[in-house]
Amino acid sequence: MFIDDLRADLDEIDRLGLVRHRRSQQSPCGPHVLRDGREYLSFCSNDYLGLAAAPALVDALAEGARHWGAGAGASHLVSGHYAVHDELERALASFCGCERAISFSTGYMANLAAVGTLAGRSDAIFADRLNHASLVDGALLSRARLCRYPHLDLDHLAHQLATTPARRRLIVSDTVFSMDGDLAPVPQLLELAERHDALLVLDDAHGLGVLGPEGRGSLAHFDLVSPRLVLIGTLGKAAGLAGAFVAGQADVIEWLLQKARSYIFTTAAPPALAHALLQALDLIRAADSRRAALRELVAHLRSGLRAGGWRTMDSATPIQPVIVGGNRETLALSRSLDEAGVWVPAIRPPTVPEGSARLRISLSAAHARADVDRLLYVLGRREAGA
Ligand SMILES: *Cc1c(COP(=O)(O)O)cnc(C)c1O
Repeated sequence: MFIDDLRADLDEIDRLGLVRHRRSQQSPCGPHVLRDGREYLSFCSNDYLGLAAAPALVDALAEGARHWGAGAGASHLVSGHYAVHDELERALASFCGCERAISFSTGYMANLAAVGTLAGRSDAIFADRLNHASLVDGALLSRARLCRYPHLDLDHLAHQLATTPARRRLIVSDTVFSMDGDLAPVPQLLELAERHDALLVLDDAHGLGVLGPEGRGSLAHFDLVSPRLVLIGTLGKAAGLAGAFVAGQADVIEWLLQKARSYIFTTAAPPALAHALLQALDLIRAADSRRAALRELVAHLRSGLRAGGWRTMDSATPIQPVIVGGNRETLALSRSLDEAGVWVPAIRPPTVPEGSARLRISLSAAHARADVDRLLYVLGRREAGA
């Protein structure tokens, strides 16, 4: 019977040690959280600038709700679109240096839209193998041919582009890879897009707010402007709230508005949220000292890890993986940290390649140097041969 089949599949997941559990927090997002009735020092969130619980943002959300009410009441193309959504889209476009932007309820939905509607049946999508799952799902929805290239392998990508029979070409990449923390070679990707008449779709989920002058993200970091660029930014990470957007040429954005099913067939995000997001953009712009503190924490953590004999990756971002290797070993390490009151997620295959199970440490400007010291102390030295 159907349910018995499901039970058997669940048992199999359990047997492989791949069951996932949610942990319920009893306090707001921050470096110090209450979980299971106990205080933890957390290195889990993507709240890179420490804005998720910032009083100014909490106030802006409450103020937005007082002004605009709690909900949008309908989808954007019916009656759920408000003046404050327009204002937010204009602010986002200008923040990223693009002609126009369109806002979405989540990054997942923005990626389904951007990848899923810019390519079609006779087109091809070229995607880095380590791209976020939502970009892969968008490619599958598009029905275009999906060609994945080895992580950062530009020669491989160039060869694929040169030999494709596809009508239109889309190159799709994370800017900051979510499990490794490394950066895509965006200028070189753009060069390839130009040479092969492709669009370049970039997911800046972990770059926005963190990289570039005023936290304007990866395009600003690399100082790039091009009509071939389509940028996705998420607003639940450094921006501390929720939501996402796609920015680019006006016609590209208009196409998404007309065609993207994850935009059309869903209730608009509350206008109160758009109001708070405008405040978040101001806070991001003014957060140079937070970004400087974050960079110092990253450097401090990396040198401490290396001194302890731990294997780090080539990441200058707040995402700092510690490669352990085996699944069991990684879980055991995560558990021992947990017992010491330090919360760091263990990431295992299939999220990362076999044999590269890791701790994924993510830092926030809200962490103190002493928090990183405590993490390093609890981690200790990696045992030789381990
Ligand atoms: C988090 C994330 C998303 C999804 O964004 P949500 O707003 O959480 O749905 C998309 N891409 C990348 C690279 C991400 O890390």
